[in-house]
Amino acid sequence: MSSVLPSYAEAAAIVGAHAAELVRQPTSERVGLEHAAGRVLAASLRTDRDQPPFPRSTRDGFACRAEEANTHKALKVAGSIHAGQPPAGPLPPEAAWEIMTGAAVPEGADAVAMIEHVERTFDAIRLLRPRALESRENIVPQGAEARAGEEVLAAGTRLGPQQIAQAATSGHATVEVFRRPRVAILTTGDELVPVASTPEPGQIRNSNGVMLASLVAQAGGEPWVLPTAADNERALDGGLREAASADMLLISGGVSAGKFDLVEPALARLGAKFHFTGVRIQPGKPLVFGEVGNPKEKKKFFGLPGNPISSAATFLLFGSRILGALAGDAHAGPRFALAQLAKDVKGKPDLTRFVPSFCNFDPSWGEFPEVKAVPSQGSGDLASFSRSNCFLVVPEGMDRLKAGSTVRILLI
Ligand code: AMP
Ligand code: MG
Repeated sequence: MSSVLPSYAEAAAIVGAHAAELVRQPTSERVGLEHAAGRVLAASLRTDRDQPPFPRSTRDGFACRAEEANTHKALKVAGSIHAGQPPAGPLPPEAAWEIMTGAAVPEGADAVAMIEHVERTFDAIRLLRPRALESRENIVPQGAEARAGEEVLAAGTRLGPQQIAQAATSGHATVEVFRRPRVAILTTGDELVPVASTPEPGQIRNSNGVMLASLVAQAGGEPWVLPTAADNERALDGGLREAASADMLLISGGVSAGKFDLVEPALARLGAKFHFTGVRIQPGKPLVFGEVGNPKEKKKFFGLPGNPISSAATFLLFGSRILGALAGDAHAGPRFALAQLAKDVKGKPDLTRFVPSFCNFDPSWGEFPEVKAVPSQGSGDLASFSRSNCFLVVPEGMDRLKAGSTVRILLI
C-alpha cells in the first residue's frame, strides 16, 4: 500500500508545483513600519536619497589626504566635525580635520586616519610610522551602498529586521504589504474539548487549534480557528462548508484509516479534488492535500493527521509552502539546516522520518550545531515535543544515522 504513496520529495514537488501556480493575494494594505515585521511587500521600495547620503567616516580620527599623511609630516588640524553636523570643509592643503564616526568627510579629504594611528600635538597631527593610508580608507563614498531612486527592496520580500531598517533609512514610514491569507483551522474529534474546560474521562484538550494558529501566524497567515467538529457527517459537512470561505483550509484529525476518520469522505462530498492522500513520512503518513471550490476560486486544503506532532510536522513541511505562496512570499516553505548528530538514530526502509529533536545552535566556534533526538512516546507526546526546537530528518531507506555525521534538520 505505502509504495503507491508519494515519497517526501515527490509530495514536496507536488505541493511546490501548486504553490508556484498560486496567484498571490491581489489585495494589499498600508501598515506602519513598526507593524511590518513578517509582512510581505506588495510593491517594491526605492530609496529617496543616496546611501550614505554624504561620504561617511567609519572611524573616529582625522580626515586628510592620504598622500600628505603618508609623508608623516605634521598636518594642522583645521576643524572638527561630528555626526549630525552639516558637511564641513574644504580641507586646506597640508591639514587634517578632526572627525567622528558617522560624520560627513570634508571636501578635499580622501581618507580618515584612525585616532589610534596618529600622534597629536597642540594643533596638529602626524600619522605614526610605519602606518600608511590608502585613498578612500575609512570612508564610504556617497551613494556607494545605494543611489537615490534605486530599488532597494523588491516586491515579494518578507520584511525581517534587516529589511525594516532599510525601509526606514530609505524614507518609508509606512509600507504597502499583501493582506495576510486567512487560514481556516478546523479541528475534528469527539474527544476534544476547549482548552479552558475540564476534560471528562476519555476527553482531551484541543491543543492543535492553538498550535496550528501559532504556526499559521508564524508563516505569515491570519489564523481563523473554527469550533471543533464532532466525528459525524453533519458536523464535518457544516464545518467544512464554513471553512471553505477562507483562503486556505487546515483540517486536523480524521484522516487515518479508523472507523471515525470521516474527513476525506466529507471533503469528497464537498467536491474536493485530491492531489495526494498520504505521504511516505513518519509522522504524518495519512496527510491529505487537495483543493475545493469552484474552478475560479479553488481553495487548497490539507487534512492533517490529528496527532499533534504529525500536525505540526506536516504543516511545516507542506502547509507553510502553500501559505507562503498565498501570502506573496515566493521563498516561503520549510527551512532546513545542517547539524552534527550527537547520538545514533534509526531509519525506516520506506518512510522519511522527522524526529523531534533539540539542536544546540550555540556551539563552540567552528563546529556545527549539535542535534539530539528528544526521547518520545510517539507523535502524541507533547511533553517531549515541547522540549524540541527542530525535527531531525532521517531519509527514507537509511538504516541508521550515525553519531557524528552531518544531518539535516527542519527548523520549527
Ligand atoms: P486522528 O487523526 O483524528 O485519528 O487523531 C489522532 C490522535 O490525535 C488521537 O489521539 C487524537 O485524540 C489526537 N488529536 C486529534 N485532534 C487533536 C487536537 N485537535 N488536539 C490534540 N490532539 C488531537
Ligand atoms: Mg479523530
